[in-house]
Amino acid sequence: MATFELLKTTEHSIRLGRMTILRNHERKILNTPNCLACTARGSVPHLTPDSLREIPVEALEITLEQFLDVQPPPSSLFPNGAHKFFNLEEYLLFFDVRDPGELKKIPFNTDKFASVITSQGIRKITPDDYVKYVNSYNPEMFASLSDTITAESPSPKRIKKSVNRTLTWLDHALANIKEGIHVFGAVVGHDNHEERVRSAQETANRKVAGFVLNGHDLGNTSKERLDILKTSINHLPKDKIRIAYGIEKPADILRGILEGIDVFDASYPSKMTSAGKAFVFSLNNDKWDTDTGCSQHINLLEGQYRTDYQPFIQTCKCYACRNHTRAYVHHLLNAREMLANVLLMSHNLYHYSQFFKKIRESMEQDTFLQFAEQFLQRYGEEEYKNDHEVTLENAEFSINQNKTEHNSSF
Ligand SMILES: [Zn+2]
Repeated sequence: MATFELLKTTEHSIRLGRMTILRNHERKILNTPNCLACTARGSVPHLTPDSLREIPVEALEITLEQFLDVQPPPSSLFPNGAHKFFNLEEYLLFFDVRDPGELKKIPFNTDKFASVITSQGIRKITPDDYVKYVNSYNPEMFASLSDTITAESPSPKRIKKSVNRTLTWLDHALANIKEGIHVFGAVVGHDNHEERVRSAQETANRKVAGFVLNGHDLGNTSKERLDILKTSINHLPKDKIRIAYGIEKPADILRGILEGIDVFDASYPSKMTSAGKAFVFSLNNDKWDTDTGCSQHINLLEGQYRTDYQPFIQTCKCYACRNHTRAYVHHLLNAREMLANVLLMSHNLYHYSQFFKKIRESMEQDTFLQFAEQFLQRYGEEEYKNDHEVTLENAEFSINQNKTEHNSSF
């Protein structure tokens, strides 16, 4: 059984929530707002399960496309599911077809299959295949198969087809998924207002546990992506959880939360790690805990860190910051030692998780709007400032302190 409670909310979309999933007498919780830690082929990049346990993540995303190079996909024949196979038993697992951090151009889909691109070429995933794999991996949650459009300027007819096909595949998933796995409906409609509304409303009419909105390839900026996603969000019921892809930078996450998104994919820490960068954005607006001004990250490949003997962030309690210096990571990167990425990822994912924790705490303490406003003033890009000010002015943070609203079971 899964429940989603809104612990505090406002008329203007700010939502402090908690998803609880009870399965096989085991209770797992996802506090929201939050992120899904991304994995590559069943592991969080650069981290062992032990080092991952030092980081307060609650849910991980597993994607089918990363297992399709080999047939049958590794672990799909394993009798005890993905949690056991990957040694990730304490986490909530969310399953999807494609990597949320990178939307590859999809050649074409038909009524019978969705295309997935792997290093071995294109694989065709039928709705039956997909449900079969999900039943085998046995995660707590998964996104229904979507007819995602990656072509530029699709016709209205193609977008309508995408909505219809995605709804058909959702119905198929709902009819065939085994008990205990919760279906999240994929909301599509590309950039067509009417179709986005129809997709949101029709998906909401089904017995889904929540919604997945994919912002990749919608618009050229995160502002444009968020504006398009907003069209769908405005037509979703308040009492179910919303996951969004493609909104990943901290300032954009705050804007997404202000629009009613609950969960974001955490591919950004991996991307920063691959680029040799460490997050340094401050979580304390009133007392800056970094020496980096308005920079949100530092590039450890730069020569200035050769003799910088402080941690990434003085106050950070992650393994890397407790034990190592920027100078050491600079040295490791230049020496191409794997430990550089281990330390960077340990810090980046930890700090990203702490960012969401700070957001939840500020909602509990009724200071979220102030936190968001100060953060965006310091780090928000110029192009967003006006939009943000309008959003904040309109958001009346009249929190329902004592009562739990919108409690739903499904
Ligand atoms: Zn750290």
